[in-house]
Amino acid sequence: MRKLQFTVSGLLLCLSFGQVYGQSDAGRQEADLILDHATVVTMDEAYRVIENGAVVISDGLIVDIGQRDILERYEATNVLDVSGDIVMPGFVNTHTHLAMSVFRTLGEDIADRLHRYLFPLEAQFADLEMVRIGTRLGVLESIKGGTTTLVDMYYFEGAVAEVLDKAGLRGVVGETIMTFKTPDADKPSDAIQRTIDLIHQYKDHPRIFPAFAPHGPYTNSTETLREIAALSEKYDTRVTSHVAESVRESEEIAARGARSSVAYLETTGLLSSRLLIAHAILVDDADIALLKKYDVGVGHCVSANTKSAKGVAPVPAMLARGINVGLCTDGPMSGNGLSVLDELPQVGKIHKLNLADREAMPVRDIVAMATIGGARALGMEDRIGSLEVGKQADIIIIDTTAPNMTPIFDYYAALVYSALATNVKHMIVAGSVIMKDRQVLTMDEADVIQEAQDLSARIAKRLYNGGVRMDNN
Ligand SMILES: [Zn+2]
Repeated sequence: MRKLQFTVSGLLLCLSFGQVYGQSDAGRQEADLILDHATVVTMDEAYRVIENGAVVISDGLIVDIGQRDILERYEATNVLDVSGDIVMPGFVNTHTHLAMSVFRTLGEDIADRLHRYLFPLEAQFADLEMVRIGTRLGVLESIKGGTTTLVDMYYFEGAVAEVLDKAGLRGVVGETIMTFKTPDADKPSDAIQRTIDLIHQYKDHPRIFPAFAPHGPYTNSTETLREIAALSEKYDTRVTSHVAESVRESEEIAARGARSSVAYLETTGLLSSRLLIAHAILVDDADIALLKKYDVGVGHCVSANTKSAKGVAPVPAMLARGINVGLCTDGPMSGNGLSVLDELPQVGKIHKLNLADREAMPVRDIVAMATIGGARALGMEDRIGSLEVGKQADIIIIDTTAPNMTPIFDYYAALVYSALATNVKHMIVAGSVIMKDRQVLTMDEADVIQEAQDLSARIAKRLYNGGVRMDNN
């Protein structure tokens, strides 16, 4: 297998889209890349959809967007004729644990899996090598599903940052902070220090954003949560956490004398626009009012929540209150995929069923959550989440000629209920082409898969033959 190793900055030079738009007419502005004959689903304020349109990209940014006649003003050496395919903002995955991809299919159908299976599993197997290999697999799958920005929280996040950076993606990386010993920190202060080190290391990086990631409110002390709140203000850094996810969490928070996880977090000073919480299943009207008051972002992991049987997050109520909600896959042992696109139909179906209302959760709102909603939940809406002049060129192109995508009367309905991850054809992040015709250009796909298979074979050997026993295994 021929190895494909390109640097991201060199990609545009390596690609040939087989056409040169325009000649060197005087007065024409030079662009790096033009997407021509595009059906542009912009996800801007007006929800403009531009048929027979074009997108012009220079220096990593969108410099023009509109009907094809704008191309009279530009010339570019690289023109990608997308022949009517959907051109839209890349998906934002607001919560995942990429490295857990190598644990996929382990420990299914176990009650209280996190405490009975997952934490012991990680104590045995989560090390720097597992994180690097698992993250590479997770990033490869994310790219193939059209995710251009993702929020990861796990261990050895320095390695996660490196993999994301090398692959050319945009990422928020959160070192997990917990009261008890974790695979890479003996105590919470070690994980906090690792986070601070990452903040310094990536302070000027255009695509990698370290964050504080307390595992949850009940798996950290009040003192640690207060310290994280102060540090996130000091460094103006985001915080992300699992919140209001389980009955066990609610019981432990009640034992601390608080009404709910969200109310408890208010007492720690953590509720702010810097906070992004994943799950938010067990929240009532008073909690929703608090989330709105402090402008907290929410990640909605519908398939993980469904499979874990933990309940349906009241997302329609949150959206009605104007809370910024994005979508998330959670880790690949939970959902079990890393494709935000494959979450979309589940979001629609679960909420319609839950509310016994066919009008609930309309298709455009679902696509908005997967793109601009996630960007807002992350406080990055000035840079990503929609296709607008001045924003980062984080763009995916979706094949509209596949059998499952034919016909299309409504683009949002097609994206929610017809499209599959395999329909994502090309991906561009910060103006660089990351995937073309489903071939990922920034990673050696065969090598990533082989590494993960080798690691899973070693895990299986230890799990089943090496005397390591997990509950129910
Ligand atoms: Zn999670």
